[in-house]
Amino acid sequence: MANVDRFDIRASVPLCPFTTLRAGGPAELFTIARSATELANVAVHAQSEGIHAMVLGWGSNVLPSDNGVPGLVILNRARRIVIARTGEVVADSGCGFQELFVKTAQAGLRGLEFAVGIPGTLGGALVSNAGAYRSCVSEFLTGLQIVENGKLSWVEPSWMQFSYRDSRLRRPDAPQAVLVNIAMKLPRGVPKQIYDEAREYQRQRISKQPPSPSAGSFFKNVNDKLLAQSLERLPDPLKIAGVVPAGFLIEAVGLKGHRHGGARLGVKHANFIVNVGNATATEIRELAGFAKAKVHSRFGVELEEEVLYLGDWPEFDARS
Ligand SMILES: Cc1cc2nc3c(=O)[nH]c(=O)nc-3n(C[C@H](O)[C@H](O)[C@H](O)COP(=O)(O)OP(=O)(O)OC[C@H]3O[C@@H](n4cnc5c(N)ncnc54)[C@H](O)[C@@H]3O)c2cc1C
Repeated sequence: MANVDRFDIRASVPLCPFTTLRAGGPAELFTIARSATELANVAVHAQSEGIHAMVLGWGSNVLPSDNGVPGLVILNRARRIVIARTGEVVADSGCGFQELFVKTAQAGLRGLEFAVGIPGTLGGALVSNAGAYRSCVSEFLTGLQIVENGKLSWVEPSWMQFSYRDSRLRRPDAPQAVLVNIAMKLPRGVPKQIYDEAREYQRQRISKQPPSPSAGSFFKNVNDKLLAQSLERLPDPLKIAGVVPAGFLIEAVGLKGHRHGGARLGVKHANFIVNVGNATATEIRELAGFAKAKVHSRFGVELEEEVLYLGDWPEFDARS
């Protein structure tokens, strides 16, 4: 990479400590961006030089391959948040999603209560259109500053092509783009209601989230009215909405708590894969594949991962 000394770039850096699953191999090249300017500069540089560059936020929704991740991984620690009295917010993509909730709530703005308990950066939240309790991050977005094709520019929210836990940046044909700054507009709220709602969400999370390393829900819930109505034990509101939780299906095939090497499907919540003993990324992916196969053979449904696999997975690609 030309001019690398402009940036503090290191080779072969283990990514395992930078993921909440605590698994996976090294990045070929690695750097840390501590401001939006640094993030934009390194992204412009890498893209102009034809280097594959990807951003890692808090690593709470990814599984890097044990074989490593080729190209440059930019750890995003740019975390400035600016809030105007009018409710307009401009935040660095590396700010903590929960910190954004706290700061906006302190400014009397509502809307991000659901972010409590979602570990990760705002950039990572946008890529997967993170959400909970029927809200999601894309609802409040007014613009994004991105680096694409070596150029920094502002784009409309529609550029992201959001849908349920999805955006174009998750798809196999995703453009190589880096989210730098995010603009949002949040409505005014009543502070007591904002904090009460956030506390209630936090309480619900504590009751179902395992303490061991995980990436949260491993699979997306399934939207399928016919399937939902055919499942006798599914609660009525879910039958009506046509939503089948992935954890319900995994539990139904008897895999709740199932262990493979150092990886285990959640005991409280079967849609979590937890690292209970130095699991390799391969073990985690094998366990995910096993759950998918069982659910498919029993219900004819293909579970889709919410967690993103990073890097080279030749043994799995060969199988699919
Ligand atoms: C205990 C736990 C609970 C969770 N609960 C929820 C939940 O309720 N709802 C939910 O939706 N998710 C949940 N998650 C998943 C995860 O926290 C979210 O998806 C989170 O928003 C990811 O942010 P991150 O910074 O960790 O992203 P990362 O995991 O670091 O990255 C995810 C993807 O986004 C890309 N990316 C990150 N930043 C940028 C950027 N600036 N520009 C371009 N691409 C970027 C990465 O390259 C990667 O492809 C949970 C996870 C855990 C561990």
